[in-house]
Amino acid sequence: MIMTTLLTQLSHLGTAVCDEKHPRAPVALPAIRTSTVRFNDIDTLHDTYRRQAAGERIVGYGRMGMETHAAFEEMMCALEGGKRAFLAPSGLNAIAMVLLSLLNAGDHMLVADCVYGPVRQMDETVLKRMNISSTFCSMRDMAELESKIQSNTKILYLESPGSLLFEMLDLPAIAAVAKKHNLLVIADNTWGSGLAYRPLDLGADVSIVAVTKYIGGHSDLLMGAVVAKDDAIIKRIDTNQYALGFSTSADDVWLAIRGVRTLDVRMKRHAENALKICEFFDQQAETLQIYHPAFEKDAHHDLWKRDALGSNGMVSVALNLTKAQTKVFVESLKLFSIGYSWGGYESLIDMVNTDFLKNHAYWNPNYPHLVRMHIGLESPEDLIQDYQQALEKARNYPPSIP
Ligand SMILES: *Cc1c(COP(=O)(O)O)cnc(C)c1O
Repeated sequence: MIMTTLLTQLSHLGTAVCDEKHPRAPVALPAIRTSTVRFNDIDTLHDTYRRQAAGERIVGYGRMGMETHAAFEEMMCALEGGKRAFLAPSGLNAIAMVLLSLLNAGDHMLVADCVYGPVRQMDETVLKRMNISSTFCSMRDMAELESKIQSNTKILYLESPGSLLFEMLDLPAIAAVAKKHNLLVIADNTWGSGLAYRPLDLGADVSIVAVTKYIGGHSDLLMGAVVAKDDAIIKRIDTNQYALGFSTSADDVWLAIRGVRTLDVRMKRHAENALKICEFFDQQAETLQIYHPAFEKDAHHDLWKRDALGSNGMVSVALNLTKAQTKVFVESLKLFSIGYSWGGYESLIDMVNTDFLKNHAYWNPNYPHLVRMHIGLESPEDLIQDYQQALEKARNYPPSIP
C-alpha cells in the first residue's frame, strides 16, 4: 500500500472500477442519474435500511445520491481532511443544512462580521423565526469574543478569509476559545476549498464549501458541500440532511468531480495572476489599500503565511476615486465582466455597495469605494493593459470642456 498525498488522491479517487465481471471500465465515473434503486431481493433491501440507519454511506434511494455522489463526497473528505461529506444543491443550502442540523430553538450563535452576506438574511429571517439568535462581531480580539458568549451560545460561525475584504482570522485561537466554552466552530471554506486553507486541521468542527466557486471552476454549476470529522456531528447532520430532503443532481456532481481533477493547477494560476494584479495596483497613486492575504503588504499576511497552504484569484482594492470615476473605471474594462461570483475561469469585477461594509470592523469607513475582483485565467499582462486604459479614462473623468 503506497501512502499517497492529497494531489495523487484527487486524481485517483472517483474512477470507475474494473472487477472480474467488468474487466474494462471507463476512466471517468459516469453520472448515475436515477431516482430510485433496484434490489436483488428483500434481504438486500432490509440490509440496506439497517446499514443506512447505522450511519453507513450506502446507496438506497436516488435522493441521497448514488456512486457518483459518493465518489465526490470522498474527494471532499480528502480535500478538507474530514470523515464524511454531505452535498446540497447550493453553497447557501449547505450553510442552511448545517445550521438547521446543529441549532435548537433558544440557541444563540456568534457570527464573524465578514461572512458571506446572505448568512445575515438567513439569521434575520428563518433562524430568528425559530427563536435562534445571532450576534455579529469581528472575532479579531479573543477577549472581546469571549465577552460575547452567552449561556445559550452553541456555535461560532466564521469565514476565513472573509467574503469581501479577505480578512484572515486566527482560527486556531478562535477554536481554543470555542473549546474552553464547549462551542462548535463552523467555517465557510469556499475561499480555501480544501487546497488553500483547511479549517478542520486548524480546529473547526465543520467546514462548508460552495462547490459553485473554485471546485466547479467553470461558472456552470451550483452546489455546496459540508465536511465533518466527529461522529456525533456527522450523525446529526446525516439524519437532518435526510429529514430535510437535500438532493443534488448527478450531472452537477459529475461536473464537480471533473472540477476537482484540475483544482490545484487552476487555483495556483489564479493565485499567481492575482499577485501580479496586486503588484500593479500597489504602483497606482489611487490605491488606498489592497486586500489579498497572499500579498506581502496585506494587513494579515503573517496569519496567511502561518495558516494557509495557498491562495486564489480574489482581490479587493480600495481606490481613491469618486463614485462616478470608479463607475467609469469598472465599466471601461474590456476583459472583465461585471458580476459578483468567483472561482470560474473568467475575470469578474464588482463595485461593492459600501452599505454592506458598514458592519465590517475591518473596513475603513473613510475609504470611498471598494472594487472586488476575481482574477481569471487570462494573461495577467493583458489584464494589466486593460486596467491601464480603464484607469486612464477614470482619471480623466469628467472630461474637461475645451
Ligand atoms: C458563493 C458563496 C456561497 C454560496 O454559494 P452558492 O452556491 O452561490 O449558494 C457561500 N459562501 C461563500 C463564501 C461564497 O462565496
